[in-house]
Amino acid sequence: MEFRALRVDLSGMKFKEDIIDEKTIRRFLGGRGLGAYLALKEIPKDANPLGPENKLYILSGPVTGTAEGFEAGRTHFVAKSPLTGLIGESNMGGRFAPWMRKSGYDLIILEGKAPEPVWISVVNGEPEFHSAKELWGRGTHYTEKKIREAMKSPKEGAVIAIGPAGENFVKFASIIHAGGRAAGRTGLGAVMGSKNVKAIFVKGDREIPIADKERFMKGVKHLKEKIGSHPVRDSLNKYGTAVLVNIINQIGALPTKNWRKGTFEKAEEISGERLAEKYLVKTRGCWGCQIECGRLVKTESPQWGVPPGSKGPEYETIFALGSNLENSNLESIIRLNHILNDLGMDTISFGNTVAVLMELFERMNELPEDKRLELEKLLDGLRPIWGEPWPVVELAYKTAMRDGIGNVLAEGAVALAKSFGCDCVAHARGMELPAYDPRAIKAMALAYATANRGGCHLRAYAVSFEVLGIPVKTDPLEVNTEKAKMVKEQQDFFASIDSMIVCKFNTFMTPNPEDYVDLLAGATGWDITAEDIMEIGERIYNVERLFNVREGDPGDDLSKRVKEEPLPDGPAKGHTAKEALEKMLPAYYEARGWENGKPTKETLKRLGLEEFMYII
Ligand code: SF4
Repeated sequence: MEFRALRVDLSGMKFKEDIIDEKTIRRFLGGRGLGAYLALKEIPKDANPLGPENKLYILSGPVTGTAEGFEAGRTHFVAKSPLTGLIGESNMGGRFAPWMRKSGYDLIILEGKAPEPVWISVVNGEPEFHSAKELWGRGTHYTEKKIREAMKSPKEGAVIAIGPAGENFVKFASIIHAGGRAAGRTGLGAVMGSKNVKAIFVKGDREIPIADKERFMKGVKHLKEKIGSHPVRDSLNKYGTAVLVNIINQIGALPTKNWRKGTFEKAEEISGERLAEKYLVKTRGCWGCQIECGRLVKTESPQWGVPPGSKGPEYETIFALGSNLENSNLESIIRLNHILNDLGMDTISFGNTVAVLMELFERMNELPEDKRLELEKLLDGLRPIWGEPWPVVELAYKTAMRDGIGNVLAEGAVALAKSFGCDCVAHARGMELPAYDPRAIKAMALAYATANRGGCHLRAYAVSFEVLGIPVKTDPLEVNTEKAKMVKEQQDFFASIDSMIVCKFNTFMTPNPEDYVDLLAGATGWDITAEDIMEIGERIYNVERLFNVREGDPGDDLSKRVKEEPLPDGPAKGHTAKEALEKMLPAYYEARGWENGKPTKETLKRLGLEEFMYII
């Protein structure tokens, strides 16, 4: 198995085909793993994330687009992150990667910077540049519509696009597809914008290769049956990821009022159950998905109107624009989600940044005189008040356009807090935390602190064992070293999952690497074992860490808000994340074969990463 890469030399306005050899695919699979490896090799040390020397990798994996029923439609993006200055990577649902493979390429690499705004089409192996002058400044919804019209392809093929936020280098700009599927985190929309690329269209009818059809179909059948008969599938289908709102609120881990509380008294009003009952039009899946956690929604009141059939908010978005802003107006969250997708901004980072602003506004009298006057001037009469969604709409547009206060918000929550001398932001490695308070779910403290891309719930989802009991139930308030090993194992497994690529939600129902052996062996023709899948994941995790170490990694830590400030409410009242992190981190390093957060020479040797020994 080889991968065909399309290298897009934007500075020279040229295309070049490249072959990624089987040995490399076997070591990194594709998707996140291959992207991290290529990024470490090809992006120079200290590269400006928004400069032409950064590269944006758009990747599929060896099982992408092969067969339906086991969630193999997702796309992975990798670059150096403008938000953190470290490894930037994000996984997007939808249909782009299957169409990219059909178009003739397993990955597309954007290099350099186009002299003028362009969009790119790739149809049956034929890439082409188009002027994007007419689309620059427009939202992602309009852009996708216009590109489909230009390509005379209303349904077939797939489009990814950036909005004004990516064009204006908002540090948490996202890449958007199909109206609301997002590569949201780490600001990769700004990288695409820095290259003057507005959008990419892919389409074709190349047959995707499968090495051993019989074994592959055995693997597909196994996954389809196990996932299809599982109650978690039904729950995700019925309520979407927002089913978590009530569950996480009950254990006191729903971040509320800029992480100053762990419970939201109006959680019910923004729950997945309420979303399903009042606003759901129908469910929607990514390519080949039998779970269909996606929501197509409508709203009732005119002021929060969205076009019927718009993408509904996920759990993370509901926390970021709901509980964390003390906003219980679900219609406003639906509308804001629609706006942020159109502008091309990550809802988690944006919501956290606005939460910091609301806290600064509330505590304005505590600021030094010069800072208070500066904030007042920047706000220009705007009043960001808890529970009030209208100013948030205005802040979204101002951020995307870098207008007034928006120019400060566009740098992210950490930069905002710092510029006003406030320690009031929940983050790890400079990326704002998602919707699980690590003070109430202890293993998430370690998962966040050690996530290579910064505060992230998807590099290890300790919530699965701490809260949902998958594969075993642990006590979320207990601290023990066994959890450190579980976090490490999950990180490695998920790195392989993101590289094959299948949807991570599969792992609720098929939580063992054994579940993927026949699938992967069949698709590639390799003699592969469950241990191999775990080792590949471990190799990927180490490559990402090496990227960070090379770029001056700040280390495995959490910000003061969650590490030192006790929760004032709920079942975890009085808890911080400090003890969990301090006790579990040494056991985690031991399990990884790391010293002070860096892989040792022995570890790199064991994983066949000798070529990167110069970094440590
Ligand atoms: S479960 Fe949800 S996110 Fe995963 S592939 Fe299906 S629709 Fe997409």
